[in-house]
This record gives sequence, structure tokens and C-alpha cells, in this order.
Amino acid sequence: MRYFIGNWKMFGVPKSINILNKINSFHSKDKNRKKYRVIITPPYTLIETFANYFKNKSISIGSQNCYQKEQFSSNTAAISPFMIKSVGAKYTLVGHSDNRSEGDTNEMLKNKVQFALKNNLRVIFCIGENKKDKKNKKTFSVLQNQISKVLKKKFNINNIIVAYEPIWSIGTGKIPSKSELEKTIIHIKKVLKKLFKKKNFTVLYGGSVDGNNVQMFKEIHEIDGFLIGGASKSSKKFIDIIKNYYR
Ligand code: PEP
Repeated sequence: MRYFIGNWKMFGVPKSINILNKINSFHSKDKNRKKYRVIITPPYTLIETFANYFKNKSISIGSQNCYQKEQFSSNTAAISPFMIKSVGAKYTLVGHSDNRSEGDTNEMLKNKVQFALKNNLRVIFCIGENKKDKKNKKTFSVLQNQISKVLKKKFNINNIIVAYEPIWSIGTGKIPSKSELEKTIIHIKKVLKKLFKKKNFTVLYGGSVDGNNVQMFKEIHEIDGFLIGGASKSSKKFIDIIKNYYR
């Protein structure tokens, strides 16, 4: 199974559902539709409307983040996994670099993953090195650390998707070379294998994916799909990625 996950970040109002409608009608008629899933993570304000609207349709809805407590608390503006699940989301991102840079620690991320799973949300756990780590050839150790500090053996890895997103690639148009990326994805799978004693994992790539470069990513069979930021805000660009992937 492949995944095409669109992360809208701070984008969208109720009428932006038009974008998803176009993606949904493409997906529902696509001859390859059984080979992949489409998930969109809109801002919190749109989760309920979108999840209700797409309840019995092809697209699933996820959240971009969740709070590190399970249900209710006195933290102003916090939204828990329980609350997210209650409005129909099936997934949540955890550990996006935007949130790490705003202060999410490994301990917080571990709690987020734990409570999201407990509330039957599937987790899309984001990891990735920054420019300096890459320059200092620390990519592998940074990724290993990000995984082992957050993902605990007792977590159900079947409900966790790992998204490898090099920070230097997000929104920049820069992407890793094919051989570099292939080695990194294999490394991530090796780390997961050691931790969970299992064979198959879902590991996505994210960072400046578009309709042109997806052909290169396609050649790396270990990549199970994509986390797509900028290009997910346009139905045409998002659909082009899927079309070119299966061309
Ligand atoms: C992201 O924000 O997760 C992302 C991958 O963004 P972009 O595709 O715009 O690089």
C-alpha cells in the first residue's frame, strides 16, 4: 500500500473543500485507486466538516498535531487526541519539524504518540535532520535518536507511519539525491526492525515533492509514499503527483 498524505499547514477555510472534492473524484475513478490511500491533514478548524463530508468517500482526514495529554486539561488552546478522534479524524501527524522547532521535545512526542494510539488515531511520526546535521554527516545518528527516544517497543507499530522529512528540504525545492535517500530510508527501516522485531514498516518521504521529481522517488522501492506540503494545496498539483507516480 502506498500513501499520499497532504499536509495543509495553516491553510484553508470551509470552501477549500472544493480542492478535496476534486482529489476525491480523481481518486474514486482512478484505476490504481486500490494501490494507495489519500489522507489530508487540514487545520483543526476544518477537521470536523471535512471528516463528516468525506466519511464514506475515498479520502481520510487527519490532524496536524495533538496535545500530549489524553483527554481534557486546563491548557489553553490545546487539543487532545480524544477530541481529534471525536470529530472524525483517523490520523494525526506527530513531530513535524515546525512543531519540534516550537519546542516539542522527545518526551512530549512520546506522550503524543502514546495517547494518539490509545485513542485509535494512526500516527504519522515525522523525523528528519537539519542542514547542519547533514553537513556534519550526522543524519543516521540523528534519525536513530529521534526514533528510539519516541517510539517505544510497546507501541503498536502497525498503527504508526514514519515520515522522513529532511528539514533542509521542506518548502525549499531542494531534495536528496537518489542514492542518499535510498540509503537513509533503508537505515530507518533497519532501526525500526531492530526496535520492533518485525519485517515490514511504512516509511514515507516528505520534502518538496512535486509532479516532476516524484518519478525519481518512485525508483526507490523502499519509499512507501509521500508527505506533501505545498503541492497538496492545489488539487492539480496533488493529482499530478499521483498520476506521475503511476505513469
Ligand atoms: C511538509 O511541510 O511536511 C512538507 C513536506 O512540505 P513541502 O512539501 O512544501 O516541502
